[in-house]
Amino acid sequence: MKVPAEATALHHSREWWALFLWSDEWRNDVKTKLEYIWLDGYEPTPNLRSKTKIVAFDGEPTLEDVPVWNFDGSSTRQAEGSSSDCFLQPVALFPDPGRANAMLVMCEVLLPDGTPHPSNSRASIPDDPDAWFGFEQEYFLYKDGRPLGFPADGFPGPQGEYYTGVGYKNVGDVAREIVDTHIDLCLAAGINLEGVNAEVAKGQWEFQIFGKGSRRAADEVWIARYLLLRLCERYGIDINFHPKPLGVEHDWNGSGMHCNFSTNRMREVGGEEYFAALMTAFDDHKDDHIAVYGPDNHMRLTGLHETAAIGEFTHGVANRGASIRIPWSFVQNGYRGYLEDRRPNSLGDPYCIAGRILQTITEADMALAVDEAVAA
Ligand code: ADP
Ligand code: MN
Ligand code: MN
Ligand code: MN
Repeated sequence: MKVPAEATALHHSREWWALFLWSDEWRNDVKTKLEYIWLDGYEPTPNLRSKTKIVAFDGEPTLEDVPVWNFDGSSTRQAEGSSSDCFLQPVALFPDPGRANAMLVMCEVLLPDGTPHPSNSRASIPDDPDAWFGFEQEYFLYKDGRPLGFPADGFPGPQGEYYTGVGYKNVGDVAREIVDTHIDLCLAAGINLEGVNAEVAKGQWEFQIFGKGSRRAADEVWIARYLLLRLCERYGIDINFHPKPLGVEHDWNGSGMHCNFSTNRMREVGGEEYFAALMTAFDDHKDDHIAVYGPDNHMRLTGLHETAAIGEFTHGVANRGASIRIPWSFVQNGYRGYLEDRRPNSLGDPYCIAGRILQTITEADMALAVDEAVAA
């Protein structure tokens, strides 16, 4: 197990010591701490849950080596007390950079008969390794019931200088330490984190995750969320993923989770006609998309604050007020490349979001194939 070189930049003592204890060779003489992570049955948004299993392995474990486990579903809104066992099926494995000799185990929740639990959104989504997703996860750091840096009463100065800002008056004293440590944790865990930035509201930040395949990209978003939540515990800070935590009546941005996406056909073939067919399919299914783009999105998708109105489907080149923004590069390359769906929000389930986008694209592809067959 090699810890990436980036991880050595860690300065926070707990993470530093954990990484220090990782050796280049997997230490067979030390038992492994497996942190099983799953989504609970809360609605409309699941919470992350986790518990530790300690196992002796002969060498570094692979996903196949990690055993199925179980938990009390009656405590997570996933079962009745009289028949409470739910099963944890490991589906992705990451080094745990916060602990020595430890792994993070992303799991799907199964019923005792081995079928997916109704809360298991990952099991039923379409997947394709050639479908690439880039999620821009926005969130607020919260302390004492308000965004980090907000005074106890009232508001800080209005939005303007906070976005990509620097200096104590813009980002405070501890946020950057958290955000930087989160970068190192994600990279050490093998997550494809592509960047971070301070966002428009005070106390609001963003990180970007890129992944190939709807499941892989979404697994990494959930693990990155997990690492951020766990890191912030010792600061007495929580992550508020609500899309409009400060309400609609004030001039404060909400949080989105823009989903950038491309398929093989979009990247390699493209073309204006194909693009038009895709947009028609997205328009036809606009309500199906909104249904899985995160709760309370009507509070955020108002048509203001760089959003589109929730009831409409629009698209436009470089337009941050459209449902789908078309990057300039897409047009310049002959309508080839990726598109940005700006509607998903920060509280959305990335499995459902990526799965729905892929479903709509696949349906459009199938309809076009039928048209082409008829024409031939
Ligand atoms: P902005 O804030 O301008 O909307 P970001 O730089 O925050 O853009 O996010 C752009 C996202 O697009 C990144 O997450 C990146 O991984 C993703 N991305 C880039 N190229 C592709 C592609 N071909 N397919 C899918 N996603 C892509
Ligand atoms: Mn962004
Ligand atoms: Mn953003
Ligand atoms: Mn964006």
